[in-house]
Amino acid sequence: MPLYKHQPVRIHNSLTGKKDLFEPINDGHVGMYVCGPTVYSNVHLGNCRTFMSFDMIFRYLKHLGYKVRYVRNITDAGHLENDADEGEDKIAKKAKLEQIEPMEVVQRYTVDFHNTIQKLNLLPPSIEPTATGHIIEQIEIIKDILEKGFAYEANGSVYFDVVKFNQDHDYGKLSGRKLEDMITNTRELTAQDEKRNPQDFALWKKAEPQHIMRWPSPWGDGFPGWHLECTAMSTKYLGETFDIHGGGMDLKFPHHECEIAQAEASTGKSPVNYWMHANMLTLNGKKMSKSTDNNIYPSEIFSGNNTILSKPYTPAVVRFFMMQAHYTSILDLSDEALQASEKGYNRLMDALDGIDGLKTGDKSDFDIAAWKQRCYDAMNDDFNTPILIAQLFDAVKHINLIKEDKETISSEDKDELTCTLNAFVYDVLGIENQSITKDDSNTLSGVMELLIDIRNEARAKKDFATSDKIRDQLVELGIQIKDGKDGTTFSVN
Ligand code: AMP
Ligand code: ZN
Repeated sequence: MPLYKHQPVRIHNSLTGKKDLFEPINDGHVGMYVCGPTVYSNVHLGNCRTFMSFDMIFRYLKHLGYKVRYVRNITDAGHLENDADEGEDKIAKKAKLEQIEPMEVVQRYTVDFHNTIQKLNLLPPSIEPTATGHIIEQIEIIKDILEKGFAYEANGSVYFDVVKFNQDHDYGKLSGRKLEDMITNTRELTAQDEKRNPQDFALWKKAEPQHIMRWPSPWGDGFPGWHLECTAMSTKYLGETFDIHGGGMDLKFPHHECEIAQAEASTGKSPVNYWMHANMLTLNGKKMSKSTDNNIYPSEIFSGNNTILSKPYTPAVVRFFMMQAHYTSILDLSDEALQASEKGYNRLMDALDGIDGLKTGDKSDFDIAAWKQRCYDAMNDDFNTPILIAQLFDAVKHINLIKEDKETISSEDKDELTCTLNAFVYDVLGIENQSITKDDSNTLSGVMELLIDIRNEARAKKDFATSDKIRDQLVELGIQIKDGKDGTTFSVN
């Protein structure tokens, strides 16, 4: 029987504001769509956090035995500056600045995105569609919305009629806003405005002569509005109603609200059963963003090449750092926080490396079955990775007690413990064992054996100055020496 049959998952659903029991539309199958990057610049670590949160969710659902179709798009057209309906296309602007083709910009930053997330051990999605590859589908949806009377054409552009839609639908239900409040709080339209109401949004924009990214349409040459691509690509690959739609918290309004409006206007159906929003990574307490300069790039973390960092951190440590926070909480990045994560990561990897060598006995002092279920309970409760990690450290504590002969474990339980830890650490959290390579590990063991021998010889000769010096300097390097009845051992913090 697949695991999901007895591991019920609850998901914080932005649409209901509650943790809802997850029940997919088709038994055993999950359709999940996540808004991907706009490829006009390098991804910063904040972007990576959102994609990593959904990677962890993808991994856990797969671990439970679901067949997941995970669609994450690439936005390569239609996203204008300031997420607005007027202004320059972000990609076209960059192309002009660098004097290259827009598609060269797209290619460069798509490659950077893939390289970066691969380092952070994100699994590829099942489908990675692009906005420019789905212009025909977007035009078809606009035609449909126009036919149903929820859009209007003005001077070669097409706008979604929010006020009309709101008469028998609820525009604002995802973000908890009321259209009347939005209307009171916005400026009046000017004579040049093509929109009937300031809340209306573009489905299609007429391309001015200087606009390079353009396609023919029934309304003349133009380009699709930003919100439309996600409606087109999600419903094309996952159906008119699908299970999960995710993205960063900042996309809830207007992007996702508009996606709901477009889909409901065209199909009459609610497009998504579970809306999930991942929270922001902040730097110095402020949102990390491509458009303000409050940024840190993954490459800077891996090289240590940024003034806020005292040293480089491996991608696995960065991933561990991210997983220590719940995906719906804000997480602030700092050198101290990364240092603490590195210590925790090393302790976890140390325990994992040492499991093989654990001696087994006839009984276990540690209830593995109950502990394993606590790990599942954590993940079933809206993918609570910090609680899962606390449980993993509970196992680390027992592993260390067993190593010190203060507890015992049966051979069967040792196998179960190994399997469960491997599954949660490597498969679900996606944390790789990068602390030390096997070669480094052999070298370290050899050097430590030598130092321990020298220290023991010094102690035998009552040369405590030398033996203490070795112990103290190793502590400064983060290496602890322990004298036990079976000899001296060491551990790396
Ligand atoms: P963009 O490339 O700007 O369209 O953003 C790609 C994804 O990254 C979206 O889901 C955003 O919500 C998300 N995102 C942007 N900034 C941050 C941040 N500081 N922390 C977490 N996610 C972010
Ligand atoms: Zn989107």
